[in-house]
Amino acid sequence: MKQRINLLIAFSVIALIVLSTVQCYLVKTTYDYKVAQFHTEIKNEIGQISNNYSDIDSVIVSKKEALYKQLTENYIQGKNTKADIKKGVLENAFRDALTLKIQQKFERELPNLKIDFAIVLNKFILYQNTKKTDTIFSEKPFIQNKLYGNLASLNHAFLVRNYVGTTNVTYQNQEYKLLTEDSMYVSVIDWEMIILKRMAFILVLSLLSISTLITLFVIALKALIKQKKVSDIKTDFINNITHELKTPLATLSISTKILEQKDIRENEENFNAIINTISRQNNRLQHLIDQVMANSLAENEIELQKEKINTEAFLLSIVEDFRIANPKITIETNFQSEKTILVLDKFHLTTAILNVLENAVKYGSSNICVKTKTIENQFSVSIEDDGIGISKNKQSLLFEKFYRVEQGNLHNTKGLGLGLYYVDQIIKAHQGSVAVISELGKGAEFTFMFKV
Ligand code: ADP
Repeated sequence: MKQRINLLIAFSVIALIVLSTVQCYLVKTTYDYKVAQFHTEIKNEIGQISNNYSDIDSVIVSKKEALYKQLTENYIQGKNTKADIKKGVLENAFRDALTLKIQQKFERELPNLKIDFAIVLNKFILYQNTKKTDTIFSEKPFIQNKLYGNLASLNHAFLVRNYVGTTNVTYQNQEYKLLTEDSMYVSVIDWEMIILKRMAFILVLSLLSISTLITLFVIALKALIKQKKVSDIKTDFINNITHELKTPLATLSISTKILEQKDIRENEENFNAIINTISRQNNRLQHLIDQVMANSLAENEIELQKEKINTEAFLLSIVEDFRIANPKITIETNFQSEKTILVLDKFHLTTAILNVLENAVKYGSSNICVKTKTIENQFSVSIEDDGIGISKNKQSLLFEKFYRVEQGNLHNTKGLGLGLYYVDQIIKAHQGSVAVISELGKGAEFTFMFKV
């Protein structure tokens, strides 16, 4: 059974991991798709705003064309090298003015987005009579070739559009054509937040579904483990009761056999001793059956005979009686409350307290302390012992019916695992609660809490 549960857990964990991985993959794919969609949107919007340079500022654009013409003419005349042209183009005088104009246009047309951009020069090619070509400059997009813009790096930017421009240059009756190619890169500030907002629904939904699945899995697993423990406890109870019944039954059987002997019947002393044994074992059997019957009632079926009592005086009387019945045990009181009047059922509560006190003795204690306290509207009775204690992992089942820490076929101490179950039922019937604080080898402290 344990192996099957472990196997089930292992399979379920693997299934959960696979499911979470698939979910992560789907979220990542959606994210990539949303990023691509966002880039396309920005490209389209920017495309509509700045189809070409003349849309931005025609005066600056004509100045730019004049510069390109001038540089080209100088080059044809041999006054300029290719490197001079590149330098001249990149260090143009209207660089800042054009950058500002484009920025202002973005702010006006796309007020909801904060956009940084860079226009980089890729190509500067001269054609003579559309045949002979002279490549003055041709490089991949590179931030060092920035013509305009405020971006410092192209790392997180994406390509929006390429601008291809042609300028006609005539020198000494020769027709030249200048072809230039620039690329615009943009980076939208906080674009991650924009994508995240667009994905919020999908993210929340997948997180919710995965966490629901995990919660359901944990609940199912806990129920399974609890069920297994309860079934173990019931098997232990059957073992315990069989064990408890065996001794009196065996003694009764032997006693009847002895009584069959005539000489025993004739000796009054022996006869009486056997009758006493039979009576004792009969009582023991009766007691066992009573114990099982008494605990068959649920907390809401217990009928309480409540009355107003002085709780400290009531506790003192129980302690006194216990002291007389257990002369070898030291029992002390430490009451931090006085004359607390509670409405309780004396009979059931006496049995519950005695169960805890008898357990203390049964499980190795010789010093017991009964304490009371009132905090706010809570009255507490604690019974502290110095016995064998209970390990932390066993404490959650302590108040379950038939549960015994000593499990299986170990029977060092007698018991049916009903004492604490009864205590729990009685205290709950009083709308109170029971708690235990203990460590293995360091004694135990049982506390009953009642509303004042
Ligand atoms: P039982 O008939 O076994 O005593 P109880 O319901 O009274 O049944 O107690 C349940 C189990 O709790 C016991 O089997 C014992 O292992 C543990 N227990 C109860 N009281 C104490 C205690 N004072 N010290 C250590 N263990 C205790």
